[in-house]
This record gives sequence, C-alpha cells and structure tokens, in this order.
Amino acid sequence: MKYGIIGASGRMGQEIARLFNKNGHQLVYRKDEKEVDASAEPEIMIDFSLASAFPETLSIIKEKSIPLIIGTTGLNKDNLTELHNLAAEVPVIQSFNFSIGINILSKLISQVNNYLDKSWDLEMTETHHRFKKDKPSGTALMLAELLKQPVEIHAKRLGSEFGEHKIEFASTGELISLKHRAYSREAFSRGVLLSAEAALELEPGFYSFQDILN
Ligand code: NAD
Repeated sequence: MKYGIIGASGRMGQEIARLFNKNGHQLVYRKDEKEVDASAEPEIMIDFSLASAFPETLSIIKEKSIPLIIGTTGLNKDNLTELHNLAAEVPVIQSFNFSIGINILSKLISQVNNYLDKSWDLEMTETHHRFKKDKPSGTALMLAELLKQPVEIHAKRLGSEFGEHKIEFASTGELISLKHRAYSREAFSRGVLLSAEAALELEPGFYSFQDILN
C-alpha cells in the first residue's frame, strides 16, 4: 500500500517506516513540524506526532478522505470528539497503545478488577524515556479507566525506557502485580501495521486497536 506518516522523522515515525518498508509498503507522504514531502497520494495516513499537530491532521484527512491510524498521545476530550466526528467520513483507528501485550494486559486488569472489592489498595506506575512529552502516559490513563476506583499514577521519566506499565493490587495480606514492558518500538509498529492493513477493508467508523485484534 501507499501510505503517509505525520511525525515521519520522530522515533515512532522512523520505526513505522522501517517495518512497513520491510513489508513492501511505500512511504509516499511524510509530514513533520516544518516540512511536507509528498511523492504520490497515500491510501492511508498514520499519525504519531504531537497533540499540537492534531488540528492540521484533521484537515489533512478531511481533504484527502483516507483512513487514519492515530497513536499520538496527549489528545484531549475535544480532540477525541472530533476524531469520532471524522469517523463518520472515513475509518479512524485510534489507540494510546498499539502493542498486543498492553491490549492483553487491559483484559487481565478488567478481570482482576471484577474480583476485588474497594478494601484493596491500587497503585499504577509507568516508566518512559526522558524525551516523552506527556505525563502520565496515554496508556496509563487508558488503563486507569478500566478500574472501578480512582488510582494514583506514578510517572517516571528514565533514560531510554520504551515503556513499562505496572498495576499493583494489595490487601493487608497479599499483592497481585501485573506488568507489561516494551522491549522496543516494534511492540507498537507491529500493531500499526496490522491496523493499516485492516483499515483498507473497513467502512467509515471509529475503531480501537482492540476492535482490530478482535
Ligand atoms: P518524537 O518526539 O520522536 O516525534 C514527534 C514527531 O512529531 C517529530 O517528527 C515532529 O517533527 C513531529 N511533529 C511535531 N509537530 C508536528 C506538526 N505540527 N505536524 C506534523 N508533525 C509534527 O515522538 P515519538 O516518540 O515518535 O512519539 C510520537 C507520538 O506517539 C507521541 O505522542 C507518543 O506519546 C506517541 N506514542 C504512541 C504509541 C502508541 O502505541 N499509541 C507508542 C509510542 C509513542
């Protein structure tokens, strides 16, 4: 497929291009903060940039009328509403985490949560590389929404960590700990590839990565 990346020079943009190119897909549109480089019309667009780029992304997709896969974090409620509105026109696949492991972890958290009452303590810790702009991570916020009670999120910015999320549930007598750690950005780009390949067959609508996996 011919595809485009918004945030093409970023850490995720480069990793997505590496994996897509390895799978025979053609990067024909690259956009960064200050430049656009287009050699052909893309069939789908991928956005892994910054929340501040969102208004531009919205108008690009409206103009091109192609599916959007968006993993950018730090989007606010209004941005998400606008994405849902856009989904009336084109397929939109949005997730704050495109790794298969985090999506399995989400299911486990929901299950454990159903067994526990409010007497259990709950804590979440997320660790990411020092360059990550949003804090806490979009994934931590997404996981927190699965819990029945509010959870404190401890966010660490350390060295080169690709992304670690840990949820601990404890009573006075025992502890359950669920942890996911990405070894590389390929954990995310593989999910983006699955989503992009699926997007070409989808009707307009709003899809989570979980929907694509299902
Ligand atoms: P990065 O800082 O390395 O790259 C950001 C890119 O965005 C840069 O190339 C920059 O030029 C570009 N950019 C900035 N403003 C822009 C604009 N107005 N228009 C177009 N491009 C613009 O960041 P990163 O580590 O590659 O992460 C990118 C985003 O993806 C972040 O929001 C991060 O949290 C998110 N992320 C999501 C997942 C996921 O699975 N959903 C996984 C990892 C990272």
